[in-house]
Amino acid sequence: MKDNLANHTNILETPIEYLKGIGPARGETFRKELNIHTAFDLLFTFPFRYIDRTSFHHIKDIKAEGDNIQLKCTLVSIDKIKGKTNRSRLTGMFKDSSGFIELVWFQGASWLEKTLKVGEEYIIYGRVTLFSGKKTMAHPEMELVSDATISLSKTFDPVYSSTEKMETKGLDSKMRRKIIKSLLASLTTADLPETLPAYVIEKLHICSRYDAIQWIHFPQSDKEKELAVNRIKFEEFFYVQIRLLQSKIYRQYKYKSAPFSTIGNHFNTFYNTKLPFELTNAQKKVIKEIRTDMGKSTQMNRLLQGDVGSGKTIVALLCMLIAIDNGFQCCMMAPTEILAQQHYESITSSLGDMPVNVAFLSGSVKGKKREVILSELKAGIVHIIIGTHALIENTVVFHHLGLAIVDEQHRFGVAQRASLWKKNDELAPHILVMTATPIPRTLAMTLYGDLDVSVIDELPPGRKEIKTIHKYESARAQLIQFMHSEIAKGRQIYVVYPLIEESEKLDLQNLQDGYERLLQYFPLPDYQISVVHGRMKAKDKDWEMQRFINRTTQIMVATTVIEVGVNVPNASVMVIENTERFGLSQLHQLRGRVGRGADQSYCILMTDYKVSKEGKERIATMVRTNNGFEIAEADLKLRGPGDIQGTQQSGLLDFKLLNIGQDKAIMDAARHIAIRIIEDDPKLERDIHENIRQQVTKLRIKHKDWARVS
Ligand code: ADP
Ligand code: MG
Repeated sequence: MKDNLANHTNILETPIEYLKGIGPARGETFRKELNIHTAFDLLFTFPFRYIDRTSFHHIKDIKAEGDNIQLKCTLVSIDKIKGKTNRSRLTGMFKDSSGFIELVWFQGASWLEKTLKVGEEYIIYGRVTLFSGKKTMAHPEMELVSDATISLSKTFDPVYSSTEKMETKGLDSKMRRKIIKSLLASLTTADLPETLPAYVIEKLHICSRYDAIQWIHFPQSDKEKELAVNRIKFEEFFYVQIRLLQSKIYRQYKYKSAPFSTIGNHFNTFYNTKLPFELTNAQKKVIKEIRTDMGKSTQMNRLLQGDVGSGKTIVALLCMLIAIDNGFQCCMMAPTEILAQQHYESITSSLGDMPVNVAFLSGSVKGKKREVILSELKAGIVHIIIGTHALIENTVVFHHLGLAIVDEQHRFGVAQRASLWKKNDELAPHILVMTATPIPRTLAMTLYGDLDVSVIDELPPGRKEIKTIHKYESARAQLIQFMHSEIAKGRQIYVVYPLIEESEKLDLQNLQDGYERLLQYFPLPDYQISVVHGRMKAKDKDWEMQRFINRTTQIMVATTVIEVGVNVPNASVMVIENTERFGLSQLHQLRGRVGRGADQSYCILMTDYKVSKEGKERIATMVRTNNGFEIAEADLKLRGPGDIQGTQQSGLLDFKLLNIGQDKAIMDAARHIAIRIIEDDPKLERDIHENIRQQVTKLRIKHKDWARVS
């Protein structure tokens, strides 16, 4: 069987130029323009839409402008009209059994005048437009009924994405259809063997791979189109899942960590005497999950998801105390200096007089101070080190790292995170990654399919729901008044401006203008205003932050540097300027900066009058809900996965057809089956899984960059 396959020269390996109708010059164009090198590439580049050739419209039924329709009608007369600017246009009067329509050409009038044949029947395809108040089509696709081949085959004609070069070399959709059609006609099932086990195909009622490829290009019905698309989507996701689940098993086999078997003095003392509040049930639940994981000698790889303000920091601290109880060091990495600093302060102050050494490290810790920290870390004197990506530098050496925690992990690159895991020679540290941006389940399945996930789905008690209000510029005076009254109650206020790198100068100017305007309404010395933005030196930023934290200043004007994790419970108003320029998850993060204390909090979304449709939807979503998971779902639908959370780098989301915002059912089915297969046959050794194993191997070679996600 195998020998047979090896001897069979697969038609799909044919270099593109050897296909009928292509040749060296066009072959080169395919390669250069579309990265299509072989027959296989050609067939696996799918159409992005179809022209419905299954039926003809009646002229009298033409309704809406913008519809793409197909007509079969006879040319009655043509008319060349001289335009004012010496350009002529051509109109052609056509008729079918139901009525008349006049089509129009603005270019090539003379040539068309010669080639169009009055009295002949044509198949016409195009988009209905209005011209001089009449429904017409400009520059429709035309074909004489007597010449028509494809058009009369009653199918959906595929339309492929193309480039200008392709078109000028005569490689338009029509040409491509012809090439693909003849290739498909010569294709046998041996050329395109099945890749899924028969029992999966049967169970899910999906079509064969051979049919899928035939139908994705030339479906003869909506049903065939749907079957083909579903089959391809399933496969796109299925192998990713197999691969993620396998790598999880592989990792459990390869990476061993120290089992934290004891819960000792550090944890117990803290839990019984230092804990500033009762933990929520959700916090207790996730600590239990983490504890169980860390008790094993397989490496923990866990994602902790919890909305902003759900109390992840205390969970992280309790887990670190378990590690210390077992004689290990811990590190906690945060994406910004402000956030790392804040973790450091909150953790040292929670610990109080407990005998735990906590150190801080970032790029701004230099000289002698740095040397001392590094040597104490190496000697095992430091128990917990908190810092920025400075922690992953080679000079940072641990005595015995047992637990590595990454906060807001999506802000780090894969390589950055991976180098943290390698800080131990023999045993790998247990890993906990945390995110405050809830991720829709479908996205989590894709990105974190190889991680275990814990979710804190409950906020600490006593929080009042943040009131979110959208206001236009005209309400500025009202806003200022409101700010005055809140400050009079002793509250503090954030005012946030967008900062986008491309327009950084302009944005900083906006922030500066906004600051100066606020100074007029909140003058010194009665009021004090902090300003923080990414261009400031860390030292100055800290100073400004500190003034806000200790309530010297009532207002903080900032860019999104305060987005992640900043915790000032007395701040109860978040004003967001130019709201339309922020993404949904960013807005949600920003809003999470307030509502941290007992006071009623407000989030005020300021916009100009002109807001795009999508911008309006984002704002409406913010006003409607405070639930991070709901917002993440909306974000995924609005933007697609590409933009979310630096996911571009992972290469895990390069799907041709699958849309993770919409194809939840297919994804669930694929994951479900993948889990069952991997549980049953982790190495895919059984004969019925031979196909899957081959596919996964191929994908592994193709996607070498499918690095570990965590
Ligand atoms: P996040 O999950 O966004 O990192 P934090 O850990 O910063 O949230 O916690 C937000 C605030 O809630 C902090 O002020 C923290 O002290 C407080 N907090 C955390 N857990 C509880 C709890 N169980 N009860 C009351 N307050 C809590
Ligand atoms: Mg946090």
